[in-house]
Amino acid sequence: MLVLDDIHVYYGNIAAVKGLSLTVHAGEIVTLIGSNGAGKSTTLRTISGLLRPRKGSVTFEGKRLNGVAEHEIVRLGIAHSPEGRRIFPKMSVGENLDLGAFLRKDKAGIAEDKEKVLDLFPRLRERISQKAGTMSGGEQQMLAVGRALMARPKLLLLDEPSMGLAPVLVDLIFETIARIHEQGTTVLLVEQNALAALEVADRAYVLESGSLKLAGTAAELAEDEEVVSAYLGA
Ligand code: ATP
Repeated sequence: MLVLDDIHVYYGNIAAVKGLSLTVHAGEIVTLIGSNGAGKSTTLRTISGLLRPRKGSVTFEGKRLNGVAEHEIVRLGIAHSPEGRRIFPKMSVGENLDLGAFLRKDKAGIAEDKEKVLDLFPRLRERISQKAGTMSGGEQQMLAVGRALMARPKLLLLDEPSMGLAPVLVDLIFETIARIHEQGTTVLLVEQNALAALEVADRAYVLESGSLKLAGTAAELAEDEEVVSAYLGA
């Protein structure tokens, strides 16, 4: 479904991703793990077209995405739930969700997906008219994921969905990711919480300083000594 081939991504003169290659197959949950500054968020931003690779290519379902506009990438089937929530604080929860469907014209499908999102996150249903900026961090995180789902993506990019959440909400977010996946969405997940990410994922890539350090099935990497000592806190 998705192929990154030797991508190099810069902020000005600073190389944030240096020759990364990876693949995501339809139907998988793939996770990118690595410490702060490893290049995980930069990789997601490059896939969704917010950043351009200086070298290398991003291909989605056989189509090269280099130079394709962000909204066109959404239309092709990739939605991004960014790090730090980035919801519209002065708009209501409902309006934020509607914005996730901004490119769609199928009213019935949009209404159906809104119901699905509100079923996944009952807290958002309770707060549908509330200004998004007045919600708790965890609720805003749910809204960011829900808004991305409103695009009905084939591939959902999730950047740190558990960041800053209370443990009970972390569990809920990971259960929800598993449900989204069961409903047919392919997921590329960036997480600091490597243990939880490896539990939910099929495969994983470990990034270090913008390059690939290790790759394998999630089960293999959860047992890898280096991964355990560096990222699983053992
Ligand atoms: P984190 O979990 O801390 O977000 P990450 O693995 O997602 O880590 P990135 O955010 O992709 O890492 O950052 C990779 C590198 O790029 C880091 O060295 C970071 O300082 C740098 N970087 C990220 N965003 C910018 C920016 N807007 N301008 C300049 N440098 C940036």
